[in-house]
Amino acid sequence: MADELTLDPADWEQVKRTFHAAVDLCISQMQGVRERPVWQPTPDDVKRRFKAAAPQTGEDLDVLLSEFQSHILPYGNGNTHPRFWGWVHGGGSVAGALGEMLAGFMNSNVGGRDHIATYVERQVLDWCKEIFKFPATSSGILTSGTSMGTMIALNVARNVKADRDVQMLGMSSGPRMTGYASAEAHGCNSKAFDLLGLGRESLRMIPVDERFRLKPDALREKISADRAARCLPFVVIASAGTVNTGAIDDLTAIYDICRAENLWLHIDGAFGGLARLTESFGAELEPIALADSIAFDFHKWLHVPYDAGCVLIKNEEAHRTAFSARREYLVSTGVGLAGGDPWFCDYGPELSRGFRALKVWFTFKTYGVERLAQLIEQNCSQAQMLAELVNDAPELELCAPVHLNIVCFRFKLDAPEHVIAALNKKIVSTLQLEGVAAPSTTTVHGKTVIRVCITNHRTRAEDLIVLATEIRRLGRLFSNDAQ
Ligand SMILES: *Cc1c(COP(=O)(O)O)cnc(C)c1O
Repeated sequence: MADELTLDPADWEQVKRTFHAAVDLCISQMQGVRERPVWQPTPDDVKRRFKAAAPQTGEDLDVLLSEFQSHILPYGNGNTHPRFWGWVHGGGSVAGALGEMLAGFMNSNVGGRDHIATYVERQVLDWCKEIFKFPATSSGILTSGTSMGTMIALNVARNVKADRDVQMLGMSSGPRMTGYASAEAHGCNSKAFDLLGLGRESLRMIPVDERFRLKPDALREKISADRAARCLPFVVIASAGTVNTGAIDDLTAIYDICRAENLWLHIDGAFGGLARLTESFGAELEPIALADSIAFDFHKWLHVPYDAGCVLIKNEEAHRTAFSARREYLVSTGVGLAGGDPWFCDYGPELSRGFRALKVWFTFKTYGVERLAQLIEQNCSQAQMLAELVNDAPELELCAPVHLNIVCFRFKLDAPEHVIAALNKKIVSTLQLEGVAAPSTTTVHGKTVIRVCITNHRTRAEDLIVLATEIRRLGRLFSNDAQ
């Protein structure tokens, strides 16, 4: 019937031309990224364009591509730029972007059933088990990021360590279940406690030492105090790379405590865990292999385009029990398309899932583990170089030891703390607004500092020299204004 509708194009050749143009546009953008501002604010008239009513009729793909080129592409996050060092962001890569686009065409649903995407995801998980020396019998699943990976791991930990069947009965009876992480641990951990019905305050914040690492003695004391108060301690979350300063907790000491106290050891290795691949940090991060679970990201230090994270769990059975809840319409038949057991929907809260593994597979296969590891090592050396630039500059002071890839420092001023804080915030926002560089700010020991986190394969030494020079120039300029 001629009048039946479809979304497929009438002219496939025209669509091919549009796609070729789109790919050319994006690759040229990535190729020329260094020549452009790191970031530019989205102008008000552009923001207004995105407050329109839902379109009732369609438009030509070519018209929309040109709208994307003018009004969307220029106003990105900035993290593909070599001088983006804010928060913890990955820079993406062409290999990852190709995987993302191809996954869009395949449109696989990786919740379950027997098709190739499942095998690609299992391949990626096996590589990760190899990296962290988790046994081959461990389970895992690709997630949107470490936040979701943490939720999954802590859900399994809670079920395993509870004194009753909390999966069936919920959290409304029984002792309060408590967990432990350093005061520097990421906020996704307490969010997970909240979402699992444990309560944010049940995640105890343990003090840190002068290098921002969890203090094992303080951990031991808090666990005993909680036991004395009839709580049920069940998990310790060790940080392998904190967001503020890149601190790596003493994993061996924490593992010993977990073993003695019968607690689940979970590692937040969002970005830092992958430094396991380097010579400099390999030994320090080797005890990750002793943990019960780890959550980490591909979209940070492995440069896979957003979003892509992962969780690995040693106890496959507990992992599957925590999430399998298949109803009659989802029963596996063992053969045919409804075969392919086990299904990924049995290892996480989501049923329908995209083919995230493809862009990760492309990344590993294109660059190889060795090059990815060298880039992590390179970023850590660059952080040391920046720390030297800071130490050599009389106007600047280093505000935390530089261990991994994060440098916290600030422009000094003989003035009250709030004036120094305002000055450093102004330096950072000016760098961002002028498109020169994008560090962020944070608070270390109660001081506002400039924070540079180098998870960027495009950064060169010269970029960090530009940064240090500009910070000194702006600092002098603004402090003269202030006085
Ligand atoms: C980014 C980050 C997280 C959260 O990961 P998402 O991928 O953003 O969900 C957790 N912990 C650390 C240390 C991080 O850097």
